[in-house]
Amino acid sequence: MIVLKGAEVSAKIKEEVRAALLSMKSPAPTLAILRVGENPDDISYERSAVKKLTEFGLAVQSHVWPADIEPEAFLREFESINRDPGIDGILLLRPLPKQLQEQEIEHRIDPLKDLDGISPINMAKVFSGDPSGFAPCTAEAVMELLKAYEIPIVGRRVTIVGRSLVVGRPLAMLMLTKHATVTICHTRTADLTAACKNAEILVAAAGSANLITGDMISPGAIVIDVGINVNTDGKLCGDAAFDTLNGIASMATPVPGGVGAVTTAVLAKHLVKAASTRRGHSTPRA
Ligand code: NAD
Repeated sequence: MIVLKGAEVSAKIKEEVRAALLSMKSPAPTLAILRVGENPDDISYERSAVKKLTEFGLAVQSHVWPADIEPEAFLREFESINRDPGIDGILLLRPLPKQLQEQEIEHRIDPLKDLDGISPINMAKVFSGDPSGFAPCTAEAVMELLKAYEIPIVGRRVTIVGRSLVVGRPLAMLMLTKHATVTICHTRTADLTAACKNAEILVAAAGSANLITGDMISPGAIVIDVGINVNTDGKLCGDAAFDTLNGIASMATPVPGGVGAVTTAVLAKHLVKAASTRRGHSTPRA
């Protein structure tokens, strides 16, 4: 079984970003990360995004507010960042605390700064196969990984386990745009094993440790594991029981070290695309 490594894909994206930066004037494209509260998962994602983007030669500002911030105060702060001409891209860490209306932010965010594709305009672009918008970084990371390893998609049977707006659904659309035959599974899917066995490419994005095991896949299948879970030993793991895939899958991504590393590289690529568009350069395609 070939292990598909996120770091190798990230290195390729870094080259693309560096090449695009050569034709851009200073200042460096600038990302604003917006975090409300002290959720450890958000803090850890923020840390890895700051590290990756800085390595790529990009600028990052972290904006942090207390979890009990009043809605009006948060909207005011958000709007000033949204309108700030010195900020090229925004990453809002979610979910937001209950008193804040996520949907309002999704509608207000400038689609040109919306690097994680949360605005209805960017969602519609993903849905219609228009590459000028931004797809959610994780969904696009799966596509980047397949591209970097030259894994063909056209006409292949792809099963995606998970139908969330951040991963499963947009990924299904990106796969359709590349002419895959797509099956989407979720918690009400009657026969998950049959849908997984049918897949030539199986993407697990359910957030459930050990959900996918070797006996659920067909020989030669490619398994892309988006899940990030903590197992009973307190270690990070994906949705697939990785060891059980060996000898059955032809290729698989590990967790950690797979899709996660590519997600932050895609964020960097999106930032450069946003800065190029906003500053009137020709835009590298996402
Ligand atoms: P979510 O909870 O919003 O959605 C999970 C989806 O999986 C739902 O559609 C649900 O119906 C489906 N599902 C859950 N259990 C299932 C089961 N037993 N059988 C069939 N379907 C099932 O989660 P999300 O935000 O889409 O994230 C999914 C996973 O991906 C999580 O582990 C998350 O941490 C991870 N994630 C990883 C990255 C990355 O960069 N690698 C980024 C975002 C999310």
